[in-house]
Amino acid sequence: MENYFADERGFYGEFGGAYVPEILYKCVHDLQDAYLPIIESAEFKQEYHALLKDYVGRPSPLYFAERMSEKYGCKLYLKREDLNHTGAHKINNTIGQILLAKRMGKTRIIAETGAGQHGVATATVCALMNMKCEVFMGATDVERQHTNVERMKMLGAEVHPVRTGNMTLSDACSEAIRDWCCHPADTFYIVGSTMGPHPYPDLVARMQSVISEEIKWQLEEKIGRDYPDYLIACIGGGSNAAGTIYHYVNDERVNIVLSEAGGHGWQTDYTAATIHKGTTGILHGAKMLVMQDEDGQIQEAFTISAGLDYPGVGPMHCNMAKKGRTKVLSINDDEAIYAGYELTRMEGIIPAIESAHAIAALSKLTFKPDDVVVLTVSGRGDKDVETYLKNKAMAKEYGNF
Ligand SMILES: *Cc1c(COP(=O)(O)O)cnc(C)c1O
Repeated sequence: MENYFADERGFYGEFGGAYVPEILYKCVHDLQDAYLPIIESAEFKQEYHALLKDYVGRPSPLYFAERMSEKYGCKLYLKREDLNHTGAHKINNTIGQILLAKRMGKTRIIAETGAGQHGVATATVCALMNMKCEVFMGATDVERQHTNVERMKMLGAEVHPVRTGNMTLSDACSEAIRDWCCHPADTFYIVGSTMGPHPYPDLVARMQSVISEEIKWQLEEKIGRDYPDYLIACIGGGSNAAGTIYHYVNDERVNIVLSEAGGHGWQTDYTAATIHKGTTGILHGAKMLVMQDEDGQIQEAFTISAGLDYPGVGPMHCNMAKKGRTKVLSINDDEAIYAGYELTRMEGIIPAIESAHAIAALSKLTFKPDDVVVLTVSGRGDKDVETYLKNKAMAKEYGNF
């Protein structure tokens, strides 16, 4: 059987690994040695799951979406990560990593953020644990995502605008790594997705795997079998997707469909569809598919969805897509806007524009009436209401709202 998880050196097939500057070598090695014994200890699990329950509000519901099921000719269940504290799946990961940081004796937390969602989730757990928090964010994003900057400040975090490159997420990651190089001893870097040098992709996937752990027993309870025919999720760096599929990766009965952000179309220059368009390269400490030019210069990602705006994609997903285990769709901006309105009007749930990419996959698949489909709504759309309203006209070719 194929192994879709990380080997001891953090490789998923040809992707992954830990390509870090000399100065971080010890730091990354310490983390590689420490993470599994700690997160598999009974004491860690007890504290982690208690916080997930009482602080985050887990388990998140698995909701049968009756009207959407009827429309798409299947049995559609929504995994409601949008109902978590702070509004998305990201907090599952930041809670886990800060507990790990504490146990490793670290006193200062840094993080990168794009739209600001991971920054907010990190600032939140730092407030909770009384830890110093510094967040790196591209200057362009600081302007575009002002509310999240204010939230982070209110939570006590210091936000550093990054003015290099395109001044977006990719530059914020580089700057966070640079900072880590300067403070390797006391600082823990809380990475926001299944990316970065080993062990981060594996660590983040394990923290998010609570999503599929819950799907298993929730399906058993609702339909008397613990697996669906389809799992659907959106994919930026790959963390909500990794969590959604984690316990089903080796179950061939389950079809896995992932939606990446096509922007104006993956064949154009305005796209973030890395699995469609990327080629193998090294970015932020790991080998993965990256959108780059012939000289290896990173190309800017483009999408209406700030949370999917990254020119790379986690190594686990590069490998699974390459081996044909996952089917990856490219969903364009207009399709996502339409899907976001559709879920809002048919089920009364305003999804994050990232999650709307997953919903748009439904119209591209052909189901049998008995097919059980579980789709992860990775976050809520409060932050995106303006984007939906401003771009409503874009979606009119698919129908009217
Ligand atoms: C950040 C974010 C994503 C994309 O990140 P992944 O690591 O690919 O999950 C998707 N949805 C929401 C709501 C987000 O905040």
